[in-house]
Amino acid sequence: MSLAIETACIHGNGQLEKDHPYRSITTPIFQVATFAHPGIGKSTGYDYSRVGNPTRNDLEQVVNSLEHGSGCLATTNGMAAIWLTLELFAPGDHIVASEDLYGGSVRLFDAVRDSHGISVDYVNTSHPELVRAAINDHTKALYIETPSNPMMEVTDLSEMRKIADENDLLLIVDNTFLSPYYQNPIDFGADIVLHSGTKYLEGHNDTLAGFVISKDPGLHDKLSFLYKTTGPCLAPFDCFLVLRGIKTLSVRLEKQQENALKIARWLKEHPRVKDVYYVGLEDHPGYEVNKKQARGFGGMISFRTDSKETAERILSKIKIITFAESLGGVESLMTYPMLQTHGYLPAEVREKLGITDTLLRLSVGIENAEDLIDDLAQAFEEETEYREREKKMFTSGFRCSTYS
Ligand SMILES: *Cc1c(COP(=O)(O)O)cnc(C)c1O
Repeated sequence: MSLAIETACIHGNGQLEKDHPYRSITTPIFQVATFAHPGIGKSTGYDYSRVGNPTRNDLEQVVNSLEHGSGCLATTNGMAAIWLTLELFAPGDHIVASEDLYGGSVRLFDAVRDSHGISVDYVNTSHPELVRAAINDHTKALYIETPSNPMMEVTDLSEMRKIADENDLLLIVDNTFLSPYYQNPIDFGADIVLHSGTKYLEGHNDTLAGFVISKDPGLHDKLSFLYKTTGPCLAPFDCFLVLRGIKTLSVRLEKQQENALKIARWLKEHPRVKDVYYVGLEDHPGYEVNKKQARGFGGMISFRTDSKETAERILSKIKIITFAESLGGVESLMTYPMLQTHGYLPAEVREKLGITDTLLRLSVGIENAEDLIDDLAQAFEEETEYREREKKMFTSGFRCSTYS
């Protein structure tokens, strides 16, 4: 059965709740390590929770149907999902990756280069000719984030599929930023889709999770074997929380995107903002490509302030928005990529990518947009401006509650 995405967020492939004991509406938490065998050579379908667990199975079915895959594995977090995928490669293999990837992915790639002999070259994958030029005889995969993190570069997935076909490569896409609600890379030729489920899928900043979704059953079988062998399986209670989070994915993302568009437009007009990187702005260089392959733009904005002092002032003065790592949850969070998500990168690489001391990244939550904009407005202000405004408001007999 093919269900619309809002329905699939709640019912997966439509088969979930019928199988639950007592026809429980929600998936029970099967907090169990092992299962009794009904007889010799017989199984209920579950034998041991590293290999399979009913709560995890429901979650994997839901995420698999959201991403149009033929199989999904739920891992302890996003890094475990990426690590598991890298187990597909052998010493000597080469991967071409987007240059502004999540910093933790770059750290992992550096680690496997040293310990496993797998090398990675980074290029701006929004330019297919640069991807072609980086391929050599040992290249086995393209590894893409679109939009990228934190510079919001958009990569044309159909172009990447063409290049992958010409060179017999796997196309791997980390789809954390747009989530399956807005983008399904498998429909554009991805072989493997990865997620940090910690972000939009779970959505409440309270659980770590990761996902590996395969287009082909054969690839899923290979990954399942690696999964049960190495054991990065998500615990039943965490599976329950992510299942619960996904039920509201559609309403959360609609609101986050609506808020993000308002905030991006406001930031664009602010005299202390030099650049706004939001894929939903029509003058974003990736706007058209993103429109072709995604149903929306998401809730992630990066912006560049006029000085390091302004960036630091904003981080120290925001009140509703929290200065914290991570993204995708209902709470708005602001990150200083240079020191946090991308602190791992060497300074000259960060500089080249534009991840400098004036760049801030905002993950827009589901709060009221005007409250978020008011919070940003007061955070941008210098002390003297603040005092002047207070004085004016005092003399005009009006006091704005937002600033009290
Ligand atoms: C957070 C993140 C990861 C890592 O996921 P964890 O759940 O934190 O391990 C990977 N890729 C992207 C794009 C991320 O934002």
